[in-house]
Amino acid sequence: MTGYRTTVNLSPADLRKEGSALDLPLAIGLLVSTGEIEVEQLDRYVFVGELSLDGLLKPVKGVLSIAMNLVAERNSILVVPRGNVQEASLVEGLRYVCADSLKECVEILERNSSHDVNVATGISSNHENVDDGIPDFKNVIGMDEVKRALEIAAAGAHNFLLVGSPGAGKTLCAKCLLGILPEMTELEILETTRIHSCARRSGDSEEFKPVMSRPFRSPHHSASMVSLVGGGTRLLPGEASLAHNGVLFLDELPEFNRSVLEALREPMEEGKISVSRASGTVVWPARFMMGAAMNPCPCGYAMDPKHECTCLPEAKKRYREKISGPLLDRIDIQVCVPPVDASLFAAKGVAEASAEIRKRVCAARAVQRKRFNSLPFKSNAEMTSEYARIFANMTADVERFAVSAASKMDLSARGYFRLLKVARTIADLRGASAVDVMDLSEALRYRAFRG
Ligand SMILES: [Zn+2]
Repeated sequence: MTGYRTTVNLSPADLRKEGSALDLPLAIGLLVSTGEIEVEQLDRYVFVGELSLDGLLKPVKGVLSIAMNLVAERNSILVVPRGNVQEASLVEGLRYVCADSLKECVEILERNSSHDVNVATGISSNHENVDDGIPDFKNVIGMDEVKRALEIAAAGAHNFLLVGSPGAGKTLCAKCLLGILPEMTELEILETTRIHSCARRSGDSEEFKPVMSRPFRSPHHSASMVSLVGGGTRLLPGEASLAHNGVLFLDELPEFNRSVLEALREPMEEGKISVSRASGTVVWPARFMMGAAMNPCPCGYAMDPKHECTCLPEAKKRYREKISGPLLDRIDIQVCVPPVDASLFAAKGVAEASAEIRKRVCAARAVQRKRFNSLPFKSNAEMTSEYARIFANMTADVERFAVSAASKMDLSARGYFRLLKVARTIADLRGASAVDVMDLSEALRYRAFRG
């Protein structure tokens, strides 16, 4: 083609066009426009793939997102590198073609045979839900109050904070939570996997696997804003989005940069994160349960009868003030993790298994699904204040108790409605239609952490 010059115009201009995924569509476009190949009904094909210099097709990231958007268009056929087949095949009903090279791709297009078109079977057929590696509550002896608090958190999708001495088992308890949360639905698997698929590095040779169990993301307290909420030059999702449909666990909460923590307020309220860049705003899904853990004081032993706390009152106060009131307000369940009592480990028998607790959690979730049938909430934690009051279904006496208790504890308006939501979950766990004084009293215990 000497003497020719081809200009490729990618429009619309405001759409992100980065990475190598456009190699294949560009190559096919060039071959068709120069008359090298003829393809019938070219419009129905959607191409994606990186092309190496020897003509081989290499997988690219984000294919699941493309596939999920395409599946509604019944006529379309997605053309992907073979390395992306596992991803494409997750979206039930998607019609796709795969190839190893540009040459093979062209052969398939020219052959135009329905035998080359695969129909994706979806998730359930060839993937297993593995809970391997999740610790079980049956091996955690004692800590009944913490387990109860986490059962409530799981049942209503409430954020939680565990306060306790170093080595008290805060992280272990938080990880156990995964074993009592309901299994992910097919849609949740796709939603979460699609975010993880976008976060893959290009050229990542690791085999693609769908995210079958709820993610547990535990970023270090030195994590930057970008790594937590996403963005950066390559515009990747952050930990908060990778935790979508799972748990974002912040150990050593007061050690996190304050502005980073404040940035989590948006996803905690909205279930999504907006990241602004020069070219516009990108929105990532980020609906997670936030779990956090912290020591009660800088030395860690303020609540430990066996160790003496060496902190000055002023240092203790400063430490707790590192977590802002508005953030603390958004943590529905705050519970103290007592130091481990060695005698409990010697106790015979095992504690209740996570699978048993999960049954109660799932029953409470089923009540909520029914309650929110025509409303945009999935769990009690997501209710607006207005609905928190309506669904608490309190008698006048019970409501008076709630208001007076909240004022005694100096709860903010948000804190008050969060209290009602937790009480609602407690009532759901016992199968009651109305919140009563007992439910509120228990919910109040989980707001006990004040500076
Ligand atoms: Zn101390």
